[in-house]
Amino acid sequence: MKNVKYLQCIECGKTFKPEPGRYICDVCGPKLGILDVIYDYEYIKSKASKETFANNADYSIWRYEPFLPIEENGPKPKLRVGWSPLYKPEKLAKEVGLNNLYVKDDGINPTGSMKDRASCVAVAKAMEENADVICCSSTGNAASSCAGNAASVGIKTVIFVPGRAPLGKVSQLKIFGANVMSVQGSYEETFKLSADAIEQNGWYNRNAAINPYLVEGKKTISLEICEQMNWEVPDWIVFSVGDGCSIAGAYKGFLDLYNAGFISKMPKVAGIQAEGCAPLAHAWQEKREWHQEAENTIADSIAVGVPRNAIKALRAVSESDGVWETVTDDEILDAMRFMGKNAGVFGEPAGCAGMAGLRKLVANGVIKKDETVACAVTGNGLKDTANAIKAAGEPMKVEPTAEGLKKALKEIGY
Ligand SMILES: *Cc1c(COP(=O)(O)O)cnc(C)c1O
Ligand SMILES: [Zn+2]
Repeated sequence: MKNVKYLQCIECGKTFKPEPGRYICDVCGPKLGILDVIYDYEYIKSKASKETFANNADYSIWRYEPFLPIEENGPKPKLRVGWSPLYKPEKLAKEVGLNNLYVKDDGINPTGSMKDRASCVAVAKAMEENADVICCSSTGNAASSCAGNAASVGIKTVIFVPGRAPLGKVSQLKIFGANVMSVQGSYEETFKLSADAIEQNGWYNRNAAINPYLVEGKKTISLEICEQMNWEVPDWIVFSVGDGCSIAGAYKGFLDLYNAGFISKMPKVAGIQAEGCAPLAHAWQEKREWHQEAENTIADSIAVGVPRNAIKALRAVSESDGVWETVTDDEILDAMRFMGKNAGVFGEPAGCAGMAGLRKLVANGVIKKDETVACAVTGNGLKDTANAIKAAGEPMKVEPTAEGLKKALKEIGY
């Protein structure tokens, strides 16, 4: 990896060689000693420019190889991840109260969420290291993306999910041939169990935050947003937050582009959490350290009581002069209908939490009408149909007769 200088602990600043098996800073430990990938921006500039991107026909995250911590032309999983559409839905923008609103629909990724960006980099790293098993714990989407991307190259997976994970997500895992452990406990307990299994067996570790390459995969969403906006930078980016890797990755993407001279300003970052599980947003609002919270929300993908990447997530918001906001489950369900009806985009609850938060931030005057906003939809609505039905209701029942039809049409105003 000629483009990577070293890995650096975000707590103590100690640097490490990016060797196989290196995940965290051993001085600071797994809670604090999260590593950042530090690049040689001069080297990146020698390999990539706006022109090379314009001429690159690879419409997947691998078009950004010079910005990724992988071996040049090294082995890669086979699914097509990334280059998701960046919509500019006018009706939606008007309803939200913005002049320039972009929606990045990452639910169209191969396994249906933004997690594919992280997982395909993790699988590429596992392939570089000749690992034969990849293990992860997840609320669902990290798991299914890990299993799917690993399956694309025949690598085995052992996946720990909390018992509450929606059936749609668990069924994906089973279809991808994963060994699934449905842990009858919280996400925190699920995470601990996977960490023990990894340590006992030496498996490749695809756990949030612990693996420094995951954020690097996730940052490609921002490289895409910039390129799709013709290298303009939005004033705000809005992301829902659980562990904090997605928002940290999104921020890192802009930072790397900035440091490599592709853009000349940084966006402000808005982090959105569910009111029933918002350890980071509450800490920011109350100006104190974060502490563990219960996991009380329908948005299972962001129901994370002990965020694994709290430091990087908090840093992304504070360094960018951004904000945190919380949204209730009702506001999330409303945002699902709102986005479906006004933009044709169907997100799962955590996927629409960002939009729910954006509506509040505009209503409260934090985000101004003429500011440009890119809001991410991080997961597909088909992942969790039970909550979609909760949001949108059951269909009207119609008797198969002329009378039945007449009655039904009258109901909808015809
Ligand atoms: C994982 C996930 C998030 C949040 O990402 P974190 O890195 O956990 O903060 C948001 N939405 C969806 C759909 C996810 O799967
Ligand atoms: Zn350290």
